[in-house]
Amino acid sequence: MKFGGTSVGSAQRMKNVVALVKAAGNVTVVLSAMSGTTNSLISLTQSIKDAENANATKQIDDLEKKYHDTARELISDPALLEEASARLDVYFNELRKYLTLPITEKEEKEIVAFGEKLSTMLVSLYMKEKGLNAVLLDATEFMRITPSGEPDQEYVRENVNAVMARYPEAEIFLTQGFICRNHKGEIDNLQRGGSDYSASLIGAAINAEEIQIWTDIDGMHNNDPRFVEGTSPVGELHFEEAAELAYFGAKILHPTCVLPAKYANIPVRLLNTMQPEAPGTVIFNAKPTHTIKAVAAKDNITAIKIKSSHMLLAYGFLRKVFEVFEAYQTPIDMITTSEVGVSVSIDNERNLDKILSELRHYGEVTVDHDMVIVCVVGDLEWQNRGFEAEVVNALKEIPVRMISYGGSNYNISLLIRKEDKIRALQLLSEHLF
Ligand code: ADP
Ligand code: ASP
Ligand code: MG
Repeated sequence: MKFGGTSVGSAQRMKNVVALVKAAGNVTVVLSAMSGTTNSLISLTQSIKDAENANATKQIDDLEKKYHDTARELISDPALLEEASARLDVYFNELRKYLTLPITEKEEKEIVAFGEKLSTMLVSLYMKEKGLNAVLLDATEFMRITPSGEPDQEYVRENVNAVMARYPEAEIFLTQGFICRNHKGEIDNLQRGGSDYSASLIGAAINAEEIQIWTDIDGMHNNDPRFVEGTSPVGELHFEEAAELAYFGAKILHPTCVLPAKYANIPVRLLNTMQPEAPGTVIFNAKPTHTIKAVAAKDNITAIKIKSSHMLLAYGFLRKVFEVFEAYQTPIDMITTSEVGVSVSIDNERNLDKILSELRHYGEVTVDHDMVIVCVVGDLEWQNRGFEAEVVNALKEIPVRMISYGGSNYNISLLIRKEDKIRALQLLSEHLF
């Protein structure tokens, strides 16, 4: 059971979480930081870097007060409250040491890790108060990433099971999402929203019956509820459909968190802490339904078109183009080709200038910035008739830069301008759902 930031966002919410855990029985629980804390810690590192000492001190003081207030509201037993308070003092004293340290990427990661440590510490003491037989595990003992930043799944499997085996009597394990160590042994993390990923990695490693992602909405909706009104939850998704939606912008899931569950064939259930009786969404090897299920959008996309300088697309042209992106470690999201050229989209402009200058060896290069990928997901096997027509028809008033279909049985992606995103999402909901 993974509970996100809003789900542990206040003392009352933490109490609700513990009630859900108690009802579930034998579970492993992964927690995020309280909502707002990770952002506060990131802004704290910025203040320290900018030498805004008074500001940084105030940020730590405010955070400290918030956690002491939460502890007092959460815990009634005087001894446990004293323990919470003493532990908070230790954490905040540690945090204050960074005020006088040079902040590199290493310190930034150490600071941002405090959020999950604080939330799990408080919840573990409250579990004790409620008489749960729970053990708090330090995720940095078993969560590890490789030099390329990928989770080291073998290491996780071996170590999480070894750590759990130390407590044969425990009924509940509790641990931090998001945080891990890198190959050098330093504190690191699984990127923003990474607690979902922690949960699926741990779930796969311990061969869980089910991985539950508890959040603030009743499952994966058929469109982005932040931009479209009247969206509704999708009951069932295939692993591939959920993976596409998460990767292409459905914030409810971390972009790659479906993959460990998919490989281990463990169902993932998305549930609402505020409405636990709602059925939510279950992600598994769902049967084809002959329907379009959901739409998502991914921002900050750059489109690059390379028009071959030769008359025809000679063989080897695509390889040369792709090698440029590989050399600069820039993944390609969408590809479309014609006889004379190729367009690709990327989501990171870090090495754009170098990429463009190399691509110019192979032809004429043009770039469109501030684009958005709209991804339509469902049973889009090519023999099914009419779905692609419906998608294109829904967007007939929107200028479309690229269309990609046939890469999988589960999606159609379209590249549009940022300023057309909300309208496009609304049109797709109106026409498809
Ligand atoms: P948590 O803190 O629990 O991880 P997140 O904020 O990361 O929660 O994810 C939940 C949010 O994702 C929802 O409140 C909603 O605004 C957003 N969201 C975006 N797209 C979707 C979608 N297709 N279905 C459901 N929620 C979505
Ligand atoms: N606390 C981290 C974040 O805000 C991880 C998570 O909540 O999933 O990104
Ligand atoms: Mg999240």
